[in-house]
Amino acid sequence: MDHFLYRDGILHAEDVAIPDIAATVGTPFYVYSTATLTRHYRLFTEALSPLPHLVCFAIKSLSNIAVLKTLGDLGAGMDVVSGGEYRRALAAGVPGERIVFSGVGKTREEMRLALTGGIRQFNVESEPELRALSEVASSLGATAPITIRVNPDVDAKTHEKIATGKKENKFGIPIARASAVYAEAARLPGLKVIGIDVHIGSQLTDLAPFEQAYLKVADLTRQLRAEGHSITRLDLGGGLGIPYERSNSAPPLPTDYGALIKRTVGDLGCEIEIEPGRLISGNAGILVASVIYVKNGEDRDFLILDAAMNDLIRPSMYGAHHDIVPVREAAPGLEAQEFDVVGPVCETGDTFAKGRPLTPVAEGDLVAFRSAGAYGAVMASEYNTRPLIPEVLVHGDHFAVIRTRPTFDEMLNRDTIPEWL
Ligand SMILES: *Cc1c(COP(=O)(O)O)cnc(C)c1O
Repeated sequence: MDHFLYRDGILHAEDVAIPDIAATVGTPFYVYSTATLTRHYRLFTEALSPLPHLVCFAIKSLSNIAVLKTLGDLGAGMDVVSGGEYRRALAAGVPGERIVFSGVGKTREEMRLALTGGIRQFNVESEPELRALSEVASSLGATAPITIRVNPDVDAKTHEKIATGKKENKFGIPIARASAVYAEAARLPGLKVIGIDVHIGSQLTDLAPFEQAYLKVADLTRQLRAEGHSITRLDLGGGLGIPYERSNSAPPLPTDYGALIKRTVGDLGCEIEIEPGRLISGNAGILVASVIYVKNGEDRDFLILDAAMNDLIRPSMYGAHHDIVPVREAAPGLEAQEFDVVGPVCETGDTFAKGRPLTPVAEGDLVAFRSAGAYGAVMASEYNTRPLIPEVLVHGDHFAVIRTRPTFDEMLNRDTIPEWL
């Protein structure tokens, strides 16, 4: 459920009419709903209660500091995968003890940053990383709390680019090697083993792979305890999928997911962490664009928008579907017409949808891409020297620009001309 609904035929974000935002900030832009972010975060905390738990929002899905502060102020933790994201979490006022550091390639500099700024735990993904973290922590006279990310070798049945829990993926250590790696972790100075981490992929629309993975984690918990390790925290990752096509999909709900967690690992007495990104942010955002031209081609009609693949790359990168809707609802009785919906970038890959039925729209009309809050703005680039588009946050009947559109001067001034030219 989200808070982007039609009222009197006009798409609103909560109580704000989308055309009002467009008139103020210009198109294209992203707009996020505070009520939706809040609702989704609460669904998870309610689903995990009464287990001791922390819901750590995966910053990589939507990293605007105002969004992080919205969630952080509700008590959310944060899952970061870079020093930059760590800085964003702190800038949003989230204390280090609620920040979890994930990722396969943490540098020593990033480790130092988090150890000095405060960290809840590092999710360590390899033996070389374990040794590096031990060295860095020891050199600072610090102790790094760690979990080790295990790769349970389960098929997440999702898009190959976002599956992470198969043995051929680069993530984690094979679960069969866990015993040896935990033994090494326990011997190394500067580390304190506190738990186990697993994350098997993104946009999972079936609970079965989670169940397989979590049962393996439960077994591993018992085994590691028997080997003398103190396992008090389980980080179960993120990955719960969302319905991108309203008409034909109903992925599992956070309540179902919470029940599964209780069933599989709930009796171990561990504190539970989860790292949802997309389920919190995905349906909390839309991308609004204007129609530049309606071009009638030889065998198809094109809707050319002012948004492009550089603003929202999911369709061209993953073949992802986004529902595209007119901001002004079409008059009843108008027949839908098929369009290829494209952007202005000079690549055929700059296609959002092919043969998509849409009620007639004309030059200057506004359209909205639904479910664009996650992996939208964060993956944007300036390809074709197109400025990063603004982000807007709505709260009830008011809105604020939470990232401004850069000027062309700002963009061009980042380039410098060497003295020999
Ligand atoms: C990407 C990622 C997440 C979030 O995944 P979603 O599908 O957005 O929920 C959580 N944890 C880790 C380690 C990740 O890499």
